[in-house]
Amino acid sequence: MNCEKITQTDESMILVNIVEELVRDKVDSAIKALNMCGCERCRLNAYAIALNALPARYVTTTKGALLALLAANNLEYQTTVQVEVIKALNVVKEYPMHCLTQ
Ligand SMILES: [Zn+2]
Repeated sequence: MNCEKITQTDESMILVNIVEELVRDKVDSAIKALNMCGCERCRLNAYAIALNALPARYVTTTKGALLALLAANNLEYQTTVQVEVIKALNVVKEYPMHCLTQ
């Protein structure tokens, strides 16, 4: 009866906004799919715009359980998050704030 197999890291409790995790994931893949600029500035802008439009959903979990939790919530939030991500990317595309080296 012990959890010795679970590492300390996986066991630690974390506070996560699951909507933020989903937005980051979807922005990153949408930028690739749409062949948009993926520099840090454009990505962070898109995260910010999409997250401001979506209600936060904070949960406490463990790092080990986070991926399963995200997969489960992905179904519930899929459509809502996807819509806001596309809107955000359109804004970024229209008003790009690229770093000059990009
Ligand atoms: Zn850029």
